[in-house]
Amino acid sequence: MTQTQDRTDPGATGPATFDSLNPTTGDVVGTHPVHTEADVRAAVERAREAAAWWSALSFDEREALLTTWKGAMTRRVAQLADLMHQETGKPHGDALLEAALAIDHLAWAAGHAGKVLRRRRVSSGMIMANQAATVEYRPLGVIGVIGPWNYPVFTPMGSIGYALAAGNAVVFKPSEYSPGIGEWLARTFEQAVGRPVLQVVTGLGETGAALCRSGVDKIAFTGSTATGKRVMATCAETLTPVIIEAGGKDALLVDEDADVDAAADAALWGACSNAGQTCTGVERIYVHERVYDAFLDSLTGKARELRADAGPGSHLGPITMPKQLDVIRGHIQDALDRGGRAVVGGVDAVGERFVQPTILVDVPEDSRAVREETFGPTVTVAKVRDMDEAVELANATRFGLGSTVFSKARGPELAARIRSGMTAINGVISFAAIPSLPFGGVGDSGFGRVHGADGLKEFTYPKAVARQRFKPMLALTSFTRTEKAEQQLAQLITVLHGRGTTIPR
Ligand code: NDP
Repeated sequence: MTQTQDRTDPGATGPATFDSLNPTTGDVVGTHPVHTEADVRAAVERAREAAAWWSALSFDEREALLTTWKGAMTRRVAQLADLMHQETGKPHGDALLEAALAIDHLAWAAGHAGKVLRRRRVSSGMIMANQAATVEYRPLGVIGVIGPWNYPVFTPMGSIGYALAAGNAVVFKPSEYSPGIGEWLARTFEQAVGRPVLQVVTGLGETGAALCRSGVDKIAFTGSTATGKRVMATCAETLTPVIIEAGGKDALLVDEDADVDAAADAALWGACSNAGQTCTGVERIYVHERVYDAFLDSLTGKARELRADAGPGSHLGPITMPKQLDVIRGHIQDALDRGGRAVVGGVDAVGERFVQPTILVDVPEDSRAVREETFGPTVTVAKVRDMDEAVELANATRFGLGSTVFSKARGPELAARIRSGMTAINGVISFAAIPSLPFGGVGDSGFGRVHGADGLKEFTYPKAVARQRFKPMLALTSFTRTEKAEQQLAQLITVLHGRGTTIPR
């Protein structure tokens, strides 16, 4: 069964449509247009006009309008969470948490855009002392946002909210699994602001590809590494810049002095919340040998209390994308075939829609469960002799999105040694909820940043201006330049930069 069904009838007239389905029940949640290349271009044209108006507003005026939108979303947050629950299957409480964090980010972006981006004076230096130098960050124009389904509000809003606050218009292509949520965001924005500064286009991968080719000024993509490569290739045709927020294989390290119970609690949440469908989810755990047994006891005890089903009080929702079930089953099977053991769950934990928590030990480091993104409520746990080995194994991956360290004494030191865009110390995924921190990865996890001051700047270009205040003492950039001026420059540069140790011959 595919969740998205193309309902194009060759005999019928009118636009093609597709259904979004409830992954728990299979019910149709909504029917949406498959927007064509022409539809996407028309949306970008409308966005361009709206961008001209939006970018001409002051930071304060934009903040006021974004605050109106924020208020509208907040007052209807239960409605939004319900739609998220229906389209992705995630528990209502998790949907509410996700929406609340997204709203908090929007508030930060709107409130800080002026401070981060507005024109400021910078030093012009001794040689150019007659100049006044300023830099400001101008909006790029129209941003195309392509989002995933796993956090269908929080993830795209990391681009949408920051791009809007920086003065851009946005055309958003949500995942085919969560189109209704994209439409909900655009509709509430239209009601609050009254102009098409945020629009949504729906459809399958082709609609996303059309957005890449549509002449937008930047694409902010969040999704898998494989699709990220395709997006980048398409964008290269028109030299459209891209941000790639891709997958991860995040590690959690437990040091010998860690609060073992707190580490197990955080590890379980990091591995299993949202049914493990989290880009910064914990997929690998490395534990100091002195606390390994205590940690594993605590983790397995807690994991056995979790339930994934459609009943009330269930902790985990279904796997949103049915084809992912085969990937999860394949990773568990590979781990077991190669000598690993499932101390909780196992291959039978993978059902038709739901996957029960699965904890794997003794799994070889070169197996699929350790190397590839599993995207299910599974995790590998390995014993290490010391934290040097833990860091080395954590870094032995092409991904580099997030990471976690549990240690009383060495948290910052270990965090600095892990090659990942973000690290949580004695907490899990906490960096994502702090709006002033940049979010993004390295390696196969992508590049570019959303959130924080870096996230605002990502949707701008720096505009540098040098204004002559008075005639220069040394006229250097003129064909009337004299030899005397050149000598004076040589003297000045020696005074400024000539000191330092002499290089031995
Ligand atoms: P996909 O890569 O399958 O899809 C992401 C988006 O790209 C969807 O909107 C999809 O549309 C669209 N798309 C597909 N093909 C193309 C194309 N050729 N050109 C342009 N757009 C296209 O990812 P998922 O939706 O399955 O999301 C899960 C992945 O996202 C995981 O790998 C996860 O780690 C990652 N992720 C990363 C985050 C981060 O911040 N680093 C955050 C959240 C998730 P359609 O759905 O219609 O096919």
